[in-house]
Amino acid sequence: MRLRHKPWAADKLMQYPQYVIQNPEQHKGQWSKVFGNDHPLHIEVGTGKGQFIVGMAKANPEINYIGIELQNSVIVSALDRIIEEELPNVKLLNVDGEKLREFFEKGDVSRVYLNFSDPWPKNRHEKRRLTYKTFLKLYEDVLVDGGEIHFKTDNQGLFEYSLTSFSEYGLLLKYVSLDLHNSDYPDNIMTEYEEKFSARGQRIYRCEVKYPT
Ligand code: SAM
Repeated sequence: MRLRHKPWAADKLMQYPQYVIQNPEQHKGQWSKVFGNDHPLHIEVGTGKGQFIVGMAKANPEINYIGIELQNSVIVSALDRIIEEELPNVKLLNVDGEKLREFFEKGDVSRVYLNFSDPWPKNRHEKRRLTYKTFLKLYEDVLVDGGEIHFKTDNQGLFEYSLTSFSEYGLLLKYVSLDLHNSDYPDNIMTEYEEKFSARGQRIYRCEVKYPT
């Protein structure tokens, strides 16, 4: 993602602690208190500017959502959307997704969304891909038994790699589309990257996988 430096972003994120959770490790195992209900929790790792997570929160008020994004200059746009919509069921964490275990305990999360994750095409960067086996273990450690990963990308290489990685890890394939926008999948909420790439005529790949119980 092209980054525009926003020196004010960190301050703005601090000004909205009801939406951008400060010290998330303090809520480990107790996210229902943060949301004020015990609805299922779905997280997106690499949420970018938040179009997807905010769209999902609007469409599904019975689900709680957390968008996780490393870059403060990007996640601040997700904050703007939440402020505008005044949504009670979506929060943001400006943290590294690699540290999920610090913020969630086993069973806190029902679903992980990965959308247009950075492809890291060089073999020597395989470990950085969010569908590498160490990340699959990380998600397993915070998900409920039988929890799911829902993954979308325009990158054929990353998609092929991820299907193999999921399979080698023992995940069960529930759904796959090699051309999401020409499929009968209902209720797709587009991400910023998805809008950009599909407008250029690129195909969107999507799958859902489930951890075995
Ligand atoms: N999901 C958005 C979309 O589809 O429009 C953004 C896609 S962008 C290619 C990937 C995003 O993931 C970037 O904003 C990047 O900062 C974020 N990211 C990458 N690694 C991350 C990590 N370990 N933890 C949190 N965010 C991460």
